[in-house]
Amino acid sequence: MGGMPVSNTYRKLSFWHDTVPGSLEPGEPLRGDLDADVAIAGAGFTGMWTAYYLSRADPSLKIVICERDIAGFGASGRNGGWCSALFPASLGKLERMAGADAATAMYRAMQATVDEVGRVAAAEGIDCHFAKGGTVQLARSQTQLERAADEVAEARSFRFGEEDLRLLSAAEASELADATDVVGGTFTPHCAAIHPARLARGLAGVLRSRGVSLFERSPVIDMGPGRLVTATGTVRARYVIRATEGYTALLPGQRRAIAPVYSLMIATAPLPEAAWAEIGLASRPTFSDLRHLIIYGQRTADGRFAFGGRGAPYHLGSAVRPSFDRDPAVFAALRRTLVELFPVLGDVEVTHGWGGPIGVPRDWCASVGLDRATGLGWAGGYVGDGVSTTNLSGRTLADLITGTDSELTRLPWVDHHSPQWEPEPLRWLGVNAGLRAMSWADREEARTGRPSRAARFVGRFLGD
Ligand SMILES: Cc1cc2nc3c(=O)[nH]c(=O)nc-3n(C[C@H](O)[C@H](O)[C@H](O)COP(=O)(O)OP(=O)(O)OC[C@H]3O[C@@H](n4cnc5c(N)ncnc54)[C@H](O)[C@@H]3O)c2cc1C
Repeated sequence: MGGMPVSNTYRKLSFWHDTVPGSLEPGEPLRGDLDADVAIAGAGFTGMWTAYYLSRADPSLKIVICERDIAGFGASGRNGGWCSALFPASLGKLERMAGADAATAMYRAMQATVDEVGRVAAAEGIDCHFAKGGTVQLARSQTQLERAADEVAEARSFRFGEEDLRLLSAAEASELADATDVVGGTFTPHCAAIHPARLARGLAGVLRSRGVSLFERSPVIDMGPGRLVTATGTVRARYVIRATEGYTALLPGQRRAIAPVYSLMIATAPLPEAAWAEIGLASRPTFSDLRHLIIYGQRTADGRFAFGGRGAPYHLGSAVRPSFDRDPAVFAALRRTLVELFPVLGDVEVTHGWGGPIGVPRDWCASVGLDRATGLGWAGGYVGDGVSTTNLSGRTLADLITGTDSELTRLPWVDHHSPQWEPEPLRWLGVNAGLRAMSWADREEARTGRPSRAARFVGRFLGD
């Protein structure tokens, strides 16, 4: 850090950190031992929503969060800002796990969560640029169009109607986002674009004002029943919650629980109105297309494109390092893809490039749970869909901890245990082969115009 204030280092984490109001100077670390009712490792959205809803349910609870860096340091401060109703396990998979009604209830709960995030942000005065413009998913080939139709058919078979997800004609899709080669698409209203670091830092402020003890630069080095241990002190608590997502593998005994896979993003300089007039996205819907290797974008409140995708390699041993956040080849590929979609961006300036680890469980199914006997709880494994899901986690963990039987505690992801990942090097081979199969499938489909055989492997990789 070379003598530079640490807050400057945190500013460089992402476009969002660079543009979030307020100081990024870390708060006090934990000094000495403490007693609490609930101790949480990690101040991302999971940890902070959990503390938020607990403090509302019972303001007398003593809640402590220990964060390794600063609140919003991880994926929660750096993501694509899709506050969506997406859940990493498909309806079909949830049906096989728990039945059709449970699958539908899970997806309905996700839809309600998008509005809940907007409601709390407004109620707490957090200006996170929340704009509920929905999501437009473009189909840019016949095979992508077939996939769009399959998605809509699956939604219908679970009684989700036109008002939840509908097929778009080429003209309707282009009206929303005028990209190249558009032959159709889908639209769902269940998504808001947000500035994630504004939400994360705003939440941290709200928690402090509600009396939650949020210690920063306090890495947890061990946790177990009744205790959360840092190098500078131990928190003793009846309930101990793991909210470390993509960093979980670094904790003792958790190496094979969740694999960190990198997602990388770029942000452009603000675009002139004339460019936006050509592109569209007028009501700020988030957008993607139906390729296998996911891309995602949003028009920011200050008129930029924030655009990301997967494709960076998984690193042996579930390693997580700051240098993995930046991969010039991936940034260049993202810029190329963006210009392919919107040629008007031909000489656009890219001002920011960054990334971070998302947490992938072995069966790609997020989960939340609490072992009442030990008091140990967790939430995570959101893959790339954690911005809203973490809010549902927070409400659910609050209900579980306070012993409140609710609709939330009966959802099928509660107490779901994903299997462990394979030991290395099998994990490295499997994850990277899966990532590569997705790009192969996209290239093969572009070349042949037919569904790729590699796509079947992708399906298997996703556990569907
Ligand atoms: C580039 C990118 C784009 C994404 N885009 C989207 C999107 O558009 N929509 C969407 O829904 N999801 C998206 N995601 C995923 C989403 O951001 C995450 O699922 C979500 O933020 C997870 O929240 P979390 O609180 O569980 O984890 P995190 O936000 O990662 O928080 C974990 C926290 O724990 C801290 N920590 C780690 N180890 C320790 C330790 N030992 N002791 C103390 N603290 C520790 C970390 O510093 C971090 O602050 C994206 C992710 C990335 C990286």
